[in-house]
Amino acid sequence: MKYLVVGAGLAGLTAARHLQALGGQATVLEKGRGPGGRMATRRIGGQRFDHGAQYLTATSPRFRSAVEGWRAAGVAEEWFREGGRARYRGVAGMNAIPKYLAAVLDVRLNSRIVEMAWRGGEWHLRTEAGEEHCGAGLVVTAPVPQALELLGGVAGRMEGRLKRIRYTSCFALMAALDGDSGLGEAGFVEPGEGPVQWIADNARKGITEGPGAVTIHATAAFTSSHYDEPAERVAGLMLEAAQGWLGGSGVREWQLHRWRYSMAETREAEPCLAMKEPGPLVLAGDGFGFPGVEGAFLSGFAAAMALSEM
Ligand SMILES: Cc1cc2nc3c(=O)[nH]c(=O)nc-3n(C[C@H](O)[C@H](O)[C@H](O)COP(=O)(O)OP(=O)(O)OC[C@H]3O[C@@H](n4cnc5c(N)ncnc54)[C@H](O)[C@@H]3O)c2cc1C
Repeated sequence: MKYLVVGAGLAGLTAARHLQALGGQATVLEKGRGPGGRMATRRIGGQRFDHGAQYLTATSPRFRSAVEGWRAAGVAEEWFREGGRARYRGVAGMNAIPKYLAAVLDVRLNSRIVEMAWRGGEWHLRTEAGEEHCGAGLVVTAPVPQALELLGGVAGRMEGRLKRIRYTSCFALMAALDGDSGLGEAGFVEPGEGPVQWIADNARKGITEGPGAVTIHATAAFTSSHYDEPAERVAGLMLEAAQGWLGGSGVREWQLHRWRYSMAETREAEPCLAMKEPGPLVLAGDGFGFPGVEGAFLSGFAAAMALSEM
């Protein structure tokens, strides 16, 4: 059976891996230049910055076992512990994990899906560049507001439920410093008020060489009230608020990323939503069930199971 998966974030990659394990053939279509979605790592001037998910936790037996597999493969390791529970980082950045998962899959990058239709007993997906991909079953893992735009009328009676799934937005400011950050041994702080939600030094985190290479995430409130302002103004306000954690070092270079969809703040209770009409379709991602990276994984797994049983 041939399946199509939209999105090469953790949910899409997990769904594709499990569809393959169940004997199916999955093609993953990703609009970006690399796999990973919000498990994102960027290089600036030779240093690596995790600018999406910062760490992952594993509470369910299924996800714990996946994380053990990633540790054994050398792509994940423990970063720190809090309340007795391990927080894991990707080795050389969070993006190492999706890259590892994508390596054995048919992932088509730079393939933004702009149209989907069920015709002649198959899903037909068209990319922005005009390529067409066909499959008997479909998993869509784009953040739900984007998935809804793509689905158009196809979502049918599910539309009301899907519209209730909402995400916060988040600015991620990456700043390369000319000296060490003032973030101490732990390498991060979580003020969670004013402009700054979280600051981590990627050099202290162990994913890049020094000097200080900080990722600053803005609070949801700050991000939403400044979302459309010029990058220079946003960066200026965030750096001013973060000054006390930069160890007196100057900023050599910075880049700002705007995550329109960051964390799912209201989620669907089920780990995925499946529809048989007009054709086999499952919606998945961190908007369903459990939150964050673990939620994306569990949702991708549930999507593969649901689709294979349709
Ligand atoms: C700033 C930030 C900090 C975070 N911190 C943490 C954390 O510390 N711990 C944690 O557990 N979680 C964290 N998260 C959340 C975590 O990153 C997500 O829950 C998880 O990565 C979501 O995975 P996903 O596969 O559901 O979605 P995504 O990773 O968003 O994947 C969806 C993919 O679909 C692609 N796509 C969308 N539309 C199309 C289209 N039309 N055609 C083709 N492809 C398309 C996108 O490019 C993307 O790659 C954070 C997120 C952000 C943004």
